[in-house]
Amino acid sequence: SDTKPWIANYPQEVPASLEYPRVPVTAFLKQSAERFPHQNALYFLGKQITYAQLLSMSYQFAHSLMRRGVKKGDRVAVMLPNCPQAVIAYYGTLFAGGTVVMTNPLYTERELIHQLVDSGAEVIVALDQLYGRVEKVMPHVSLTHIILTSISDFLPFFKKMLYPLAQRKQKSNVPAITYSQDVEPFLPVLNENAATPIEVEIDPAQDLALLQYTGGTTGVAKGVMLTHRNLVVNTFQCQACLYKMEQGKEKILTALPLFHVFGMTAAMNYGISIGAEIILVPKFDPGQILQLIDKQRPSMFPGAPTMFIGLLNHPEIQKYNLSSIKACVSGSAPLPLEVQTRFEELTQGKIAEGYGLTESSPVTHSNPFWGRRISGSIGLPWPDTDCRIVDPGTGDELPQGSIGELAVKGDQVMLGYWNRPEETAAVLRDGWLLTGDVGYMDEDGYFYIVDRKKDMIIAGGFNIYPREVEEVLFEHPSVQEAAVVGVPDPYRGETVKAFIVPKAGCELNEQEMDQFCRQRLASYKVPRAYEARKELPKTMVGKVLRRQLQEEEKKRHEDQ
Ligand code: AMP
Repeated sequence: SDTKPWIANYPQEVPASLEYPRVPVTAFLKQSAERFPHQNALYFLGKQITYAQLLSMSYQFAHSLMRRGVKKGDRVAVMLPNCPQAVIAYYGTLFAGGTVVMTNPLYTERELIHQLVDSGAEVIVALDQLYGRVEKVMPHVSLTHIILTSISDFLPFFKKMLYPLAQRKQKSNVPAITYSQDVEPFLPVLNENAATPIEVEIDPAQDLALLQYTGGTTGVAKGVMLTHRNLVVNTFQCQACLYKMEQGKEKILTALPLFHVFGMTAAMNYGISIGAEIILVPKFDPGQILQLIDKQRPSMFPGAPTMFIGLLNHPEIQKYNLSSIKACVSGSAPLPLEVQTRFEELTQGKIAEGYGLTESSPVTHSNPFWGRRISGSIGLPWPDTDCRIVDPGTGDELPQGSIGELAVKGDQVMLGYWNRPEETAAVLRDGWLLTGDVGYMDEDGYFYIVDRKKDMIIAGGFNIYPREVEEVLFEHPSVQEAAVVGVPDPYRGETVKAFIVPKAGCELNEQEMDQFCRQRLASYKVPRAYEARKELPKTMVGKVLRRQLQEEEKKRHEDQ
């Protein structure tokens, strides 16, 4: 039941259809800089940057890129944690007509080479501390310009203390990073030019704003082609569905990485579109985030379930005042009910679970803030988003209530995978995107994700969805986190193994866990093996890397 009050002037219902302007993504920044020039656009470790400043710096950076030969459609890689430079590089690239290639700072050399070669990026804007990796991949990629920035570039106070660029190095006693390539420091590059407005003409429906790599955890990473229109549409849908906030007044806690499409759309572009202050958090540290909420009073917090769990498990959470938070959107993995309930008690706000994928910019569904929210459901399709449940084999639409593959259609759906017509054809049919997620729709039109198609375990001919088993494990009082994978088995082909992170002070008791599962699951779904872990391998947005656990297990099996 949903008893919390909500702010009165919010619409009671999300409209079925919206009007979308035919503009490039940069229109959001231009508009907010016009309407709220002196309002803070960014907040980063105590430093604030206004909308007027952010627009100026984005123009300056666009000029710098164009001087270095970046033309319409050229790819610019951005390999940064959340910091002002990431936002400037993103909007600067778009003003120059370029395509942003968001690059995960944690990528290994191999992953980085793949992404840079595949995208054909010519410029990279990277954190100076990542230079070692960039240098090593140089012989294999087509980069012609490396622009390095220090996390402290915008923080005069820290500048003296942290790792500045080589040019400034001699003055401090921190060991210098030496550069064997021609690299350029971010601030001088930015300051080469005046902030004269510049904008390359864009066809929003065809021109690519973003190549966003996905699928790297399960196979070779593919570049998802997202047009300006895709991103503008999803940002407008965010405005209608997430939270009708007061323009020019809100603060968005941005702990989701901007190099992932969820943070990029639901925090950065959405925030900029409503003139909000974006509180950039470079690293997820529960204690620091609690402090930040207490002091900076953000009103919105889009996050992944692991972030909410991380905060709730902080021993001193009660010490902090979290009441500023009015809305949280949770996505990228299922949100456990207990987490939702506890977080809402502490914040006086609401968490609405949503769903999406890189291929759809990303959001396609969410639980309504104003209507009925159903725990365990990803909610209702967003405006102008059609959904079907189809037979994973034939692609035929299935009757309501059946379990099958979720397919979505809407203007937030990608053009396709970069240079991969076959992979594109496998998932995009007549505008319908096959999500690879298995789920169903209830009588009221709410959708539920059962699992990912490729994570399904087949044990002795039975289909088992790991998530169902994980949910049972999660209910056990000693379990903090759980992940279930299929492991090789000589008789059944595969069998179920559970990896458990016990809560502080608890231990894994296999026998007790087995009994607990047997009371709640059909016997073929009950894990046959358990392993306690201190933590589970995860992506930056907190998705458990089941694939990695499975590969470790396979390797162990082969070594035996
Ligand atoms: P990505 O492309 O990295 O954003 O990953 C998209 C995938 O995350 C989807 O295909 C789903 O498998 C998963 N996902 C996203 N949101 C949810 C959710 N609310 N519940 C369950 N799975 C989700």
